[in-house]
Amino acid sequence: MSKMKSSESVKVVVRCRPMNDKEVAANFERVVSVDVKLGQVSVKNSRGASNEHPKMFTFDSVYDWNSKQVELYDETFRPLVDSVLLGFNGTIFAYGQTGTGKTYTMEGVRNDPERRGVIPNSFEHIFTHISRSQNQQYLVRASYLEIYQEEIRDLLSKDQSRRLELKERPDTGVYVKDLSSFVTKSVKEIEHVMNVGNQNRSVGATNMNEHSSRSHAIFVITVECSELGLDGENHIRVGKLNLVDLAGSERQNKTGAQGERLKEATKINLSLSALGNVISALVDGKSTHIPYRDSKLTRLLQDSLGGNAKTVMVANIGPASYNVEETLTTLRYSNRAKNIKNKPRVNEDPKDALLREFQEEIARLKAQLEKRSGKKKKKRRRRHPGEGGEELGEDEEDEDDDGDEEAEEDKDAPDYWRKQQDKLEKEKKAILEDHSLVADEKQKLLREKERKMEDMKKEKEASEMLAAKVKAMESKLLVGGKNIVDHTNEQQKILEQKRHEIAEQKRREREMQQQMECRDEETLELKETYSSLQQEVDIKTKKLKKLFAKLQAVKAEIHDLQEDHIKERQELEQTQNELTRELKLKHLIIENFIPLEEKNKIMNRSFLDDEDDHWKLHPITRIEDNQQMMTRPISAVGYKRPLSQHARMAMMMRPEARYRAENILLLELDLPSRTTREYEEPAIAPKVAAALEAALQDEDEIQVDASTFESIGNKKSKSRPKTGKKSSTPTSASSPGSSASPLYPQSRGLVPK
Ligand code: ADP
Ligand code: MG
Repeated sequence: MSKMKSSESVKVVVRCRPMNDKEVAANFERVVSVDVKLGQVSVKNSRGASNEHPKMFTFDSVYDWNSKQVELYDETFRPLVDSVLLGFNGTIFAYGQTGTGKTYTMEGVRNDPERRGVIPNSFEHIFTHISRSQNQQYLVRASYLEIYQEEIRDLLSKDQSRRLELKERPDTGVYVKDLSSFVTKSVKEIEHVMNVGNQNRSVGATNMNEHSSRSHAIFVITVECSELGLDGENHIRVGKLNLVDLAGSERQNKTGAQGERLKEATKINLSLSALGNVISALVDGKSTHIPYRDSKLTRLLQDSLGGNAKTVMVANIGPASYNVEETLTTLRYSNRAKNIKNKPRVNEDPKDALLREFQEEIARLKAQLEKRSGKKKKKRRRRHPGEGGEELGEDEEDEDDDGDEEAEEDKDAPDYWRKQQDKLEKEKKAILEDHSLVADEKQKLLREKERKMEDMKKEKEASEMLAAKVKAMESKLLVGGKNIVDHTNEQQKILEQKRHEIAEQKRREREMQQQMECRDEETLELKETYSSLQQEVDIKTKKLKKLFAKLQAVKAEIHDLQEDHIKERQELEQTQNELTRELKLKHLIIENFIPLEEKNKIMNRSFLDDEDDHWKLHPITRIEDNQQMMTRPISAVGYKRPLSQHARMAMMMRPEARYRAENILLLELDLPSRTTREYEEPAIAPKVAAALEAALQDEDEIQVDASTFESIGNKKSKSRPKTGKKSSTPTSASSPGSSASPLYPQSRGLVPK
């Protein structure tokens, strides 16, 4: 079969978009003409001399502005996706200047079935194929990633700030580490995956247009198919479809960029220029080294270029005159890609097939389930023959008819559980009603029954969970053949077949015509017989003219290419100059501001990481004895950081948290000097002091004759302030307003009432 086919070329098709409204409004000239039948595109260079011939390019097929999405799909992409379903790897690249329809070709207009692009169309195609298949099991999964400035972002992961790395394994090749992939069961599910990715793509970008024109988006669909082979074993084929919307191929303007911006500018299309270099190296035939490793994109898609994959490249171009240079560049670029030879083969039973893992896991779970049901069956059997019969003999005999027994058991599994429960319930009841038993014993039996019921319930739950897991896993595996009898389906299939045939026919026609044209020119001479000299002269002149025109075209092409090269070289030189300047500045800084010793240290530590293509620093270690640096210093063992003896002592003596892991010295407070004095009483002359003392003493001994008053009144007058205070609380119960109240002061000299 096609497995035997050892090599095939990369298929290149060109698609020219219609003039957009702006171009129409501005009245731009259309410089691209497309011969769909012959598969040729010609571009008139309006800037060149007026007598210059249009440049011709021939491709596998070409599509003009009237082309429909479905046309492209049926003719160009459907065969590729069919191969993927058979287990080949397939890749579709959309290449071209920004705004020429790459995204339109790949994704198209999401909600319009007429204008849907390759990606949604392939979803439909894949799942329809699966639903029609018979005796095959499928597993479809999808991933979505983006490469921007040589950084890989997983568009389906929750953490959009994370950057992924490329890794390589000898058995399976290059892969993206930790790239998430989703198993999808239907068109709807995989569409959802795509939408999520697209949303994430625009979320990360500040300017969506600029971002999408500078990043590469890769949607990956992996289709695994398991089928019973002739040898009676299950074989798995894995086809991987890469759908690549490349960054805009237009020249990035690097002039004037400096520092970070320059670095950015040189990085932006690194993947794209690496892709060009890979293509050049592949078609050149002399190169022994293909620079796949120069960029993330080429590493990741290594298989698609010269490896194990079928590849289609769609070159998108614009028709208007102001795009003519980019259009020509695109056409030349893709024209070279035609000559890449790939070696596609069916990927049979690869090690990393997820489907195999699924199958094995399901088998394991099923075995577990069976073991469980086996256990309960034994229980049942033991109970059924019950009292009589030798159990051992029974069991051994049973082993033989295990198979059909189990099938039967699976069928009435819920029934079985119910029966068991009923039975236990009945037994419980019987125990309750059995009056011959002692209460104690009854309780014991009852408890035992209840425990049994509990156990049963648990086991049932466990089995159910297992069964659910098996079911969930099985539901991911898709099997077709459900609606194979569907009449409309059949007709659709026939229709598709016919369409495919027509497409194939067209392709062959085109090929033949292209060949014929080539041969015509070669054999023209041989066929001619001339009746007269004059005729011969005429014909030969005509031919000479034709050949001369051709020569001119080739010359012009050479001239163009040379100009292109010069331009490119100038640009490279300019970039180089900028970089050299940058480098000189860095050197200057290093030489003048960084001590030689430090510089040497850094130089000794730095190394180039091959994986990342970045300079990195080794961790700091002492060169002669790095073992010592690895262990913690003695003063830090058991502590957060090295500790002084003092701190350790302080920690032991005081339990304060402050000294837990600190080197703190305990110091006395450093107080400022005093600015005040103690209070000193004023000095009194001894005479005055004596007089004063005497006076104070005298007062103590003053005798007041108050005999006319009640003794209470005397006391009262002394405690006047006290009573006065009390009087302010008239609510006091103990002081009613009685006249004899001792609390109220009485004025001297007044006769009490
Ligand atoms: P790119 O992805 O290459 O930057 P887009 O796919 O975004 O370009 O296309 C730019 C515009 O041109 C879009 O509005 C798109 O709808 C339109 N366009 C591109 N190709 C076609 C086509 N073949 N038919 C109709 N419209 C197209
Ligand atoms: Mg785009």
